[in-house]
Amino acid sequence: MFSVYQIMISLNIIVVMKVHNPYRSKYNHSYHNKKCPFCNNEVVKKQNIESLEGENWMVFVNQYPILDGNVMLVLKRHVEDTSELNKNEWVELQEKIEQTKTILSKIFDTKSFNIGFNIGPDSGSSVKHLHWQIIPRVNHQPINGFAGFIAGIQNVRMSPEELKEKIEGSLQ
Ligand SMILES: [Zn+2]
Repeated sequence: MFSVYQIMISLNIIVVMKVHNPYRSKYNHSYHNKKCPFCNNEVVKKQNIESLEGENWMVFVNQYPILDGNVMLVLKRHVEDTSELNKNEWVELQEKIEQTKTILSKIFDTKSFNIGFNIGPDSGSSVKHLHWQIIPRVNHQPINGFAGFIAGIQNVRMSPEELKEKIEGSLQ
């Protein structure tokens, strides 16, 4: 539990960059739509990396990545706040964070990440269904740190399909 909260220190960074990301307009629309994209079987089938699926959490490639390597841990049941998570879900979340970090560390040759939740309509979150963003950071990305995020300067080179293949390939 403790290390999960330690990781949440970076939460405020992710909130700001999502608000300013123009590529997320489709998801922004769905936030206020009654249909939840993460409860949609077609979305799950497309984004879920089945070999990383746990008892409570799925690992999605983000279809609208903030940066290369952007994956999301998505709870299987529809919940909108961390206060609704049970103990087993917290424990498995921690395991999934570490597993995903390890895989992305190898693929992107980095030890740096932005990770965290966005909760509630004013957080900048584009989907209500609780999900945890994991974004590997590498030093050659042409982003001027926090200021770059605010300005919307991004450079996504890897398609979600390519990322999914790389992750699945790393597990073989
Ligand atoms: Zn949902």
